[in-house]
Formats: sequence, structure tokens, C-alpha cells
Amino acid sequence: AKRGGRNSLSFYDPAMQATLEIRAALENDLRQALEENQFQLYYQMQVNQIGQILGAEVLIRWLHPQRGLVSPLEFIELAEETGQILPIGKWVIETACAQLKTWENQHRFANLQLAVNVSAPQFHQNDFVEHIRHTLQHYRLNPERLKLELTESLVLDDIEDTITKMQQLREIGVRFSMDDFGTGYSSLYYLTKLPIDQLKIDQSFVQNIGITQNDGVIVQTIIGMANNLGIESLAEGVETEEQRAFLEQHGCNFYQGYLFSRPLPLNQFEERFIAANTE
Ligand code: C2E
Ligand code: CA
Ligand code: CA
Ligand code: CA
Repeated sequence: AKRGGRNSLSFYDPAMQATLEIRAALENDLRQALEENQFQLYYQMQVNQIGQILGAEVLIRWLHPQRGLVSPLEFIELAEETGQILPIGKWVIETACAQLKTWENQHRFANLQLAVNVSAPQFHQNDFVEHIRHTLQHYRLNPERLKLELTESLVLDDIEDTITKMQQLREIGVRFSMDDFGTGYSSLYYLTKLPIDQLKIDQSFVQNIGITQNDGVIVQTIIGMANNLGIESLAEGVETEEQRAFLEQHGCNFYQGYLFSRPLPLNQFEERFIAANTE
């Protein structure tokens, strides 16, 4: 939920004051979180129509010493506002790439792709492309194993900068997925201008399959559009067999959601992957 305009706050509003205090405390704690190694990456599998695991989305978790596990929904927006998303975002990319390298050294999970969420201030940083290039080179990774999840608002924020950076990264071989597709001010025009590999159908539509007819129609339309544009479709937030069957029937390529697995810590994700591949 978005907070109200900052300028409208009154110093005599106790509820607002409490919110500000919590926020200030979190902001303060966030500053030490990186140094104190309080972040972890969780991995949520992405599967194809026959259930093979082809990739995973990495999702950050904050293990706060007093509050326990803090959801990214509670701190990413704050981190974006304070600029702390910049070092945090770098940490996520570096950790994901280091993990790909570790698997490579272990001769396993050879073709698994990792999808990383990128926030707008991070993407629009001057050194974003250079940092990705440097990290991929440092670990000598095949860049096609890294997929960046961008939102429509990030893309439209500064379209010139987006086009330049996406093209530079595409030349290296990095992949792109449009996250939460359908919820923003999608511009179909840019969809054909940008090097996008995948549309990620937002879970709000997926979860209304079989409940509201319009959402089913939207899902169908996004899949059809992706197919016609020659890009992949991935449905997120798939929770029921009914949703999966509907998506499959309409030609969706990839699936992610609790039906297959929740986001898992590294060792549990590895166990699930190994079990799935030896079944
Ligand atoms: P998102 O990128 O749209 O990620 C999908 C969210 O849906 C994740 O929540 C995931 O745990 C959840 N999810 C997956 N499958 C299901 C399902 O079947 N049902 C339901 N109800 N939910 C499902 P999570 O991990 O809490 O992340 C929330 C948001 O925080 C993400 O939304 C993303 O916008 C942001 N985020 C997470 N990690 C990072 C990160 O490393 N960097 C940045 N910039 N943002 C991140
Ligand atoms: Ca995402
Ligand atoms: Ca999403
Ligand atoms: Ca989302």
C-alpha cells in the first residue's frame, strides 16, 4: 500500500507518528543489514508444461535479529526511497551469480536460469550495465543463465535509458522478463521495441482464473500475444490444478507458484530439484 503524501502529515497525528517511528527504526536497521549478513536469497522454481524445473526466481528475505523474517513487501519500497536498494540490489545480483558459479563448479544444475528482480533506481543507475557485465565476467558465467525481471513502470520511467541499457545487456546475452505484466500502464508499442524474452503474467489475473471471467480472458490474451510476438509466457502465483490446466490449455509455456513450490532456502531448493530430476 502506498503511503499518503509526505507533505500532508500533521505532527499531532499519533498514528502517523507511530508509523514514522517504525519506519525510522526499520530504515536504521536496514543500514546495518548488509554488513551483518542479515539477507538471504530464497529460490522459487519455474517449471515447463511437463514439470521440468528450468529456472528459479530469487527472492530476498531479511532475517531481522528481533523481528524475525521481514517480507520484501515491507522493506523494498523503503530501501528504494532511501537509496539503500543500490547496495542491496548489487548484493542480490552478486549472490545469484556466485550461486550459478558454485553449481557450475559442482557440475550440476547446468542449464538452470536464475531470475533476479531489479528495482527502478537500481536499473537506472549509471553503472548498472557495467556492474552486470563485470559480475558475469568475474564469475565467467554464460550470461544467458541470468534473467532480469523488470516491471512496466521501471521500463516506462525513463524509456530512453531503458532501451539503451536493455540493448547493451542483450548484446552481452542477458535475458529479460516483464514482471507483473498487465498491471501497469503497458505500452504494447514498447513491447515490440524492447528485447523482451518473457511476459510474466501477474498473479492477480492467474488467481482469478475460474472466478471472474474477465481475468481468464486477460490471461488468454496475454498468452496469445506473447505467442504471436515470439516470446515466452510464464504464469506466476499458480496455486491450483484448475489454474494450471487452464493455462496449459491456452498455451502458457512456464509456471511458478505454490502449486509447485513455495520459495525455498537454498538447501531445500536443491533437494527439491534433485528429487524432481531423479524421479
Ligand atoms: P514479485 O516479483 O511479483 O514476486 C512474486 C511474489 O509472489 C513473491 O513474494 C512470491 O513469494 C509470491 N508468490 C509466489 N508464488 C505464489 C503463489 O502461488 N501464491 C501467492 N499468493 N504468492 C506467491 P515475495 O517473495 O514476498 O516478494 C514480494 C515482492 O518483493 C516481489 O514481488 C518483488 O517485487 C519484491 N522483491 C523480492 N525480492 C526482491 C529483490 O531481490 N529485489 C527487488 N528489487 N525486489 C524484490
Ligand atoms: Ca518478480
Ligand atoms: Ca511478479
Ligand atoms: Ca508483484
